Amino acid sequence: DAVLYIVATPIGNLGDMTPRAVEVLQSVALIAAEDTRHSGRLMAHFNIKTPMISVHDHNERQRLQTILDKLSAGENIALISDAGTPLISDPGFYLVRGVRDAGFKAVPVPGCSAVITAMSAAGVPTDRFIFEGFLPAKRTGRQQQLALIKSEERTVIFYESTHRIIETLNDMVEVLGADRYVVMARELTKTFETIHGDKVSDLLVWMEQDHNQQKGEFVLIVQGVEPKKEEGFSAETLHVLETLLEELP
Ligand code: SAM
Repeated sequence: DAVLYIVATPIGNLGDMTPRAVEVLQSVALIAAEDTRHSGRLMAHFNIKTPMISVHDHNERQRLQTILDKLSAGENIALISDAGTPLISDPGFYLVRGVRDAGFKAVPVPGCSAVITAMSAAGVPTDRFIFEGFLPAKRTGRQQQLALIKSEERTVIFYESTHRIIETLNDMVEVLGADRYVVMARELTKTFETIHGDKVSDLLVWMEQDHNQQKGEFVLIVQGVEPKKEEGFSAETLHVLETLLEELP
């Protein structure tokens, strides 16, 4: 049966393209790309001549039928996004669900994602984390969203763009407090890659002082709050107390 491959592409450094990704993109009948012009450069670099169609937030529903027809005709298809892993803060969810619901397989071809890449080098606890994607564009919404994770013990990761990075850090100072430890990961795998962690008020000052640090693509990693100490007595203490009580006259 024909399959839909979900193929990850690099987040900057073309050396991060996997051999399997190249092989799959060369072998399928059609590539569904978020932006065919943008992905055209990647295809040229890896000598991939497969035809492309666009699949983005505004036409995903119509495209589902086209893709189901192709799969029914036995043609394999690949889905890619502009960068990184499709569906991770990128289109494709509706398409993948539709393809699976129709009884076809969606096969992942893994590779880069900015969220995992950033966490791997940030030096914050990553045993449990929450990915929040992009914060709302407007200040009120952004602050409300931040208020929801203020007491979160797990690490929280956000995506941010150059347009709002300073405003977002300002809101973090305001809502999460000046002392919260935040790591900024910028331009990962690219020439100006920067990973810098500090209490968020100092991070903000550091970035405001250097305009170059405000350029590019960002991942913000917010360390969670210290877990609350257990209230009352521990099970062990309670057991000792119970035993002692039994001994009392
Ligand atoms: N699908 C992608 C992934 O798997 O990471 C994410 C797509 S999302 C539309 C784009 C956002 O991802 C950027 O605004 C930025 O927050 C983050 N991002 C992508 N590439 C990045 C990079 N090289 N360095 C830092 N952040 C990056």
